[in-house]
Amino acid sequence: MTVGIVGAGQLGRMMALAGYPLGLDFLFLDKDAKTPGGQVAPILAGELTDRGLLGKLSERCEVLTFDWENIPVEALENLPGKARIAPPLRALGCAQDRLSEKRTFELLGIPTTRYAAVDSRAALEAAVQSIGLPGVLKTRRLGYDGKGQFVLRKPADLDAAWAALGTAPLLYENLVPFQGEVSVIAVRGHDGRTAFYPLNLNVHREGILRLTRAPYGHAALTRQAQRAARKLLEHFDYVGVLTIEFFVARGKLIANEMAPRVHNSGHWTIEGADTSQFENHVRAIAGLPLGSTRARGHAAMINLIGELPDRDTLLAEPGVHWHDYGKAARPGRKLGHLTLVESSAKTLNTRAFEVLKRVDRATWLAVR
Ligand code: AMP
Repeated sequence: MTVGIVGAGQLGRMMALAGYPLGLDFLFLDKDAKTPGGQVAPILAGELTDRGLLGKLSERCEVLTFDWENIPVEALENLPGKARIAPPLRALGCAQDRLSEKRTFELLGIPTTRYAAVDSRAALEAAVQSIGLPGVLKTRRLGYDGKGQFVLRKPADLDAAWAALGTAPLLYENLVPFQGEVSVIAVRGHDGRTAFYPLNLNVHREGILRLTRAPYGHAALTRQAQRAARKLLEHFDYVGVLTIEFFVARGKLIANEMAPRVHNSGHWTIEGADTSQFENHVRAIAGLPLGSTRARGHAAMINLIGELPDRDTLLAEPGVHWHDYGKAARPGRKLGHLTLVESSAKTLNTRAFEVLKRVDRATWLAVR
């Protein structure tokens, strides 16, 4: 069976690497072969929205999936080929727009932030009036890693926020004074079977994920997260991996956003779980039985952002797993990650903090 992947970034590459041992083949669509996915599988080169190429991909593959959630849904609709698409386009469309995402959380009774759609300066003033300060103004579409966001703390910030973002449809929400951020990675197969990975405890800096530790073994929060994930999976009749990110505030989870795909906070599962999120996504969309999501100890994943540290020094550290995505260095760009797995949470924390101090001192200073 050939799996077509729209977008050949690191997520696509890790899907392909997980799927080859299952006997699957992969074909990517992305701008050129110098992408992470292009290093491991053939690639159709062109725009992700090119209907001709998407049609070709659909003709040459049994199933299509994506490694980037912002591919316009219309580009993927009614393709001429035979391939089924998973996850469902309804979930993709929902996750592309923060407003529909929030409405879906509300519809399903999943606690989320207070929010209002903002499409004019007057609407921003009304939103700040009703929701209060501090708050965050976000673009409804195409925001990631904290891009397209503006934190408002005082009335005088409205002008700057509007000047920065006012040209796009927006959403205003309250700034949550969170104690922590967690995410859940869930997977659902064709037969409706679901499985959940243990909770991830995430640290962001400047809107970008820096450090994930798992399992975050908080039983009540785990139950809340799994309940929310199950509702979304059933709502969309979902197939594949789905991620939800939450704030933890006053002992409760507040949903921030969902991703209809494998997720950066689940990279630890490659070495730290019986079956990785990538393998389970591929198994689900290919109609294979899901694998165990059990953690094999305590894992930490450290993102390598902007530039790679010295590989050989880190490889000399026992138990450090190195993942280089083969991308050109650029400030703020995710170039790779490291994973550590230990048998106790205490040892894991000590070791993860030692490595973090060396590769991302600013985050280490914030969390130590
Ligand atoms: P997002 O792109 O919505 O995932 O936001 C990136 C990061 O910004 C989150 O992981 C949080 O650290 C922070 N953030 C976003 N929205 C809020 C909010 N409403 N309250 C507090 N922090 C937020």
